[in-house]
Amino acid sequence: MKIIEFNDKGERVEADAGSVRSDSAGSALAPRPQLRSAAPEPARRKRGDSSGIELYMFQTGTLRTKLKYIKMNQGESDFEIPVPWFLIKHPAGNVVIDGGNAIEAAIDKRGHWGDVVDAYDPVMDVADNCADQCKSVGVDPNSVRFLLQSHLHLDHTGAIGHFPKAQIICQRAEYEYAFNPHWFSAGAYIRADFDRPGLNWKFLGGEYTDNYDLFGDGTIRMIFTPGHAPGHQSFLITLPRTGPVLLTIDAAYTLDHWENKALPGLVVSSADAANSVAKLRRIASDTNAMVVTGHDPDNWKTFRKAPFDFYD
Ligand SMILES: [Zn+2]
Repeated sequence: MKIIEFNDKGERVEADAGSVRSDSAGSALAPRPQLRSAAPEPARRKRGDSSGIELYMFQTGTLRTKLKYIKMNQGESDFEIPVPWFLIKHPAGNVVIDGGNAIEAAIDKRGHWGDVVDAYDPVMDVADNCADQCKSVGVDPNSVRFLLQSHLHLDHTGAIGHFPKAQIICQRAEYEYAFNPHWFSAGAYIRADFDRPGLNWKFLGGEYTDNYDLFGDGTIRMIFTPGHAPGHQSFLITLPRTGPVLLTIDAAYTLDHWENKALPGLVVSSADAANSVAKLRRIASDTNAMVVTGHDPDNWKTFRKAPFDFYD
């Protein structure tokens, strides 16, 4: 697996996953995006220097949680995770994947999320909401054509209702489960986020629609990866210069999940979760994809971050 890092001068450094050191002296988390920074960022690309298809990696702050809520049965220690989401600029239309936390998590987290904040406490500024972050890279929310939902847990539903012209693509199994979850998953579904009037949903059918190719050009493929949630899906993004980028989302929260050292702290089927990791590992091996796990603080800080940089 390739890991791409940037040094202090913004120069790109490639390394094997096993050789990457985490900087124990620094923050465990990626720097928060500076939306209105006056100083130019050294890593920022020059205008026009792009293949025309661009992948932006954003986050809506972090969640403060405990290790056991991410890695099953692995203890009570504090653990803080990034909340990533993604934007793809494509000639056929802009695409948002997930959108992170809803803006309400920055305004009235307990009012919007309820007691789940005792287990997953959002650390988020109002300016971190995904619609405003899109504007920071020149994308009008009205120009977003598709919103792709990996699943409908509360740290992934922040875009729903904020992109008026977007069709929302989700697995049917996930949408139906979100309205009637098991007791142990119920806290993760905030119905106010996804049960809104005027939304344009399109549903995929699990293995029958697997590898759904959004634009028919191989840029965005949607891979059915149930386990963490019944209708979870991951994304294989193939860029002209970077090549394949596998967004596991929560099919592998962290590299420990990717390497079969942990089950998810929240899971509806451990067997399905393990099979989904195996499926994604086969795809990563076949394509030599760059792997982006869902919430790994160390893995996340190795990537180029929006708004100052992107992959193309
Ligand atoms: Zn998540």
